[in-house]
Amino acid sequence: MAKYRTNKIKHEHSMIPGLRDHLERVAACPDIHGILPGPIRPLRSAAARDLILVIQYEIDTGLRCLAKTAQAVQEVRIVTGRPAEVRRWLVEQGLAEDRLPPAPPPRPPRKGPGIPGKQVVLQFDQRCAACGRTVAAGSRAIRIGTPPACEYLHVRCFRGQ
Ligand SMILES: [Zn+2]
Repeated sequence: MAKYRTNKIKHEHSMIPGLRDHLERVAACPDIHGILPGPIRPLRSAAARDLILVIQYEIDTGLRCLAKTAQAVQEVRIVTGRPAEVRRWLVEQGLAEDRLPPAPPPRPPRKGPGIPGKQVVLQFDQRCAACGRTVAAGSRAIRIGTPPACEYLHVRCFRGQ
C-alpha cells in the first residue's frame, strides 16, 4: 500500500488541526473515491479532545461525516458507491464512529409454545383448544391458524401452555 499519499482528498477548504493526517488514513479505504472537507464551525469548549470523525448519514454520493475537536466541527463528505462497506471499514479501522440509527432490534419471541397466535375478539362462542371449556363471544381469545382452519384458545391457556 502506498504510504498514505493520496489525491482523493480535495483541498478546497482549510482543515481543522489533525484532520489532514486523519483523512490520509481514511483515504486508504479502497471503496472511497473522494473526500471533500467542507465548512468549519468553531466551537467554544474548554475540554481538550482528540479529533474524532463521526459518520452522520448516507447521501446520494456517499456519506456525510463530521470531524470534531474541542475547538471546531468540520463537515466531511466521503464519496463512495458502497456506503455500507465504507461505514464498516471505517469503524473496524477505528477511524470513525457510526452515528447512523442502529438496525432495528430483533423481533421479540412470540408468546406460546412456538405457535404463532393472533389475539382476536370472538364474535361467537368457541371451544378452547387447550382446556375444552367455552370461550365466550365478546371476549378476547388467541386464534391459531387462519380461518376457516383455525383454533381458539383462552388467552391465559395460550400463555400457560
Ligand atoms: Zn382454555
